[in-house]
Amino acid sequence: MSTTPLIQTAGLQAGYGDAQALFGIDFSLDAGEVVAVIGANGAGKSTFLKALTGLVQVPEAAVRFQGRPIGGLPPGRIVRQGLAMVPEGRRLFPSLSVEENLRMGERAGRAGPWSLERLYRLFPILRDKRHQPGTALSGGQQQMVAIGRALMSNPLALLCDELSLGLAPIVIREIYDALPAIVAEGMSVVIVEQDVGLAQRMSRRVYCFQEGRVALHGLSAALSREQISAAYFGV
Ligand code: ATP
Repeated sequence: MSTTPLIQTAGLQAGYGDAQALFGIDFSLDAGEVVAVIGANGAGKSTFLKALTGLVQVPEAAVRFQGRPIGGLPPGRIVRQGLAMVPEGRRLFPSLSVEENLRMGERAGRAGPWSLERLYRLFPILRDKRHQPGTALSGGQQQMVAIGRALMSNPLALLCDELSLGLAPIVIREIYDALPAIVAEGMSVVIVEQDVGLAQRMSRRVYCFQEGRVALHGLSAALSREQISAAYFGV
């Protein structure tokens, strides 16, 4: 068994100018694993994903991907190495159709198994809507496009920032129901979630961030609600 994690951070510090947001994050994601990052507003979850994907500057050695240092590389190079993000708020290109949005992911990424055909099998509604502007879709359908755009870059790891944000419970279930199928095809996934129960159910391991630090970390099934509450709220 390989012991090199797919993603590893050691003492990761990051911030915005003088405002430090992460204070030494030790994190790992193994191949084929789903790991959740939870924490209150402002705990540093989004900053962490941005640090992994080159959107926030960090020292090169602070982030390793397949054992190689990638910290601070331009985001485009990180995508081509196989790390793709589904950003908070979906961020579709408003003037482009669903299919054009998906093709943007293909263009940004690497060669691999994902194709429009495969994606439309995962989210059949997107085939019906493929010529519509992304912004004409419901929130849940837009989230499917955002996930699809990331998958079309053929990542080894998918980083999802708050997929459930602003969506109705039934739609959230529909989105998360697609995750096991994606993982079954060999994807490794980091999910950032405000919904702690959902994060715990969907993941093998959980990291709970609090004020830019890892307050708790462990196997999702082994952590009690009390442990998580204490780490989440810092009590
Ligand atoms: P949320 O759930 O609200 O998105 P989060 O856990 O993702 O929260 P971050 O967005 O990573 O938290 O924010 C971590 C800290 O960094 C917060 O103190 C926040 O105010 C600060 N921060 C985030 N973005 C910026 C920015 N562009 N400029 C300055 N400070 C920022």
